[in-house]
Amino acid sequence: MTRAYSALALLREGLNAQRGWEPAWRDAEPKRAYDAIVIGGGGHGLATAYYLAKNHGLANVALIERGWLGGGNTGRNTTVIRSNYFFPESAAFYDFSVKLYETMSRDLNYNIMFSQRGMWMLAHDRHGVEMLRRSANAMRLNGVDADLHDGAEVLRRIPQLAPTRFPVLAGLLQPRAGTARHDAVAWAYARGASALGVDVIQNCEVTGFEIESGHVKGVKTSRGTIASDCIGMAVAGHSSVVAAKAGLKLPVQSYALQAFVSEPVKPCLDTVVLSPATGTYLSQSDKGELVIGAGLDLYLSYALRGSLPWMERAAAGVVEMFPAFSRLRFLRQWAGIVDVVHDSTPIIGQTPIDGLYINCGWGTGGFKAIPAGGWCLAHAMATGKPHTLAEAFTLERFRTGGLIDEASASGIAH
Ligand SMILES: Cc1cc2nc3c(=O)[nH]c(=O)nc-3n(C[C@H](O)[C@H](O)[C@H](O)COP(=O)(O)OP(=O)(O)OC[C@H]3O[C@@H](n4cnc5c(N)ncnc54)[C@H](O)[C@@H]3O)c2cc1C
Repeated sequence: MTRAYSALALLREGLNAQRGWEPAWRDAEPKRAYDAIVIGGGGHGLATAYYLAKNHGLANVALIERGWLGGGNTGRNTTVIRSNYFFPESAAFYDFSVKLYETMSRDLNYNIMFSQRGMWMLAHDRHGVEMLRRSANAMRLNGVDADLHDGAEVLRRIPQLAPTRFPVLAGLLQPRAGTARHDAVAWAYARGASALGVDVIQNCEVTGFEIESGHVKGVKTSRGTIASDCIGMAVAGHSSVVAAKAGLKLPVQSYALQAFVSEPVKPCLDTVVLSPATGTYLSQSDKGELVIGAGLDLYLSYALRGSLPWMERAAAGVVEMFPAFSRLRFLRQWAGIVDVVHDSTPIIGQTPIDGLYINCGWGTGGFKAIPAGGWCLAHAMATGKPHTLAEAFTLERFRTGGLIDEASASGIAH
């Protein structure tokens, strides 16, 4: 049984030279067969494995990761969590995710450092103000918290904001938005899943599928073939590569998305700020680094590195909005490979191969969706039916034309 983390345990281990901690999860060897297999040890795969066990009582489950847990986008993102979407389907899904984040530290007995510090979206011209009004109304109609403020109030609330060329005319605040520690989210789900009996298997790459008469029967991996007639894929930027091994062609394209952090400084920014016009979004981590996000490269790629033009553009935006930050030095820069769908809405559910399910299409914004994405993929795998929150997110929409174009509607990177 996994020992609970608590203040008492901290005290006890402090007196015991930290010798009594056990590993957070069991590093399992693959068995020959499982009731269900989840491919991908990012947040979505781990959450799926956890909810398969927790919500549906499946314990004979394997989570297979080719590298290390959280080594994909989950450990590379800028950790912003929000639910400021336009369409009701998106708002309901992402707000459910925020709600799961709100109780996650307690539910999983793991401090994910969720800080609901709010997120501001700024408008710099009258069209931008109009868009914010529409977003605020849509969010409220969808039951999501949204406060619209004029420019003077925004500058009062974010004193470091001092733009010279782009006046701030308005700001839309989602007070419940915030940030969380990304790798803690992966580790929390891994620990929770392992405690419920899930085999967490790292360094095991899926190289192919066993398929008979349209039914999936197992996966071929770098550590042998593992049988199961219920398999879920949650491999983000590698979705089209892994799906192709099952003969599927997905409407997903992979791009590098990059971010960087400054050297750590004392607390100076207590919220998340997004300025779409200048391509800037940033927050301050608990370590003190300014976490600065940039956009997608303009070409498809699997190269895990950023490009100078985007860094330059993002840095220029930050300096324009926050001149005081111009004296900070860069500390680190990195990229992740994200899975972009042309209507900027995720795909969750059954594939054309019986027993093979998928969770992908998160693009630049799937960290905030981890709890809900895992919850809904687990539901689909366990019941064979889409969860009500994800009914509009199946592959079927590419056949019927029922696309949900959130990138255009909410006007923000997805
Ligand atoms: C720079 C950057 C900033 C971002 N900022 C935000 C943000 O602020 N807010 C937000 O909500 N989202 C953000 N995102 C997006 C978010 O990180 C992703 O959408 C999310 O982490 C996807 O999670 P995942 O579990 O689907 O994928 P991943 O975490 O990428 O996990 C997929 C896993 O599958 C494994 N895998 C791949 N192929 C195989 C195989 N053949 N066999 C076995 N395993 C395999 C990989 O090794 C990987 O660990 C950002 C992304 C990046 C790159």
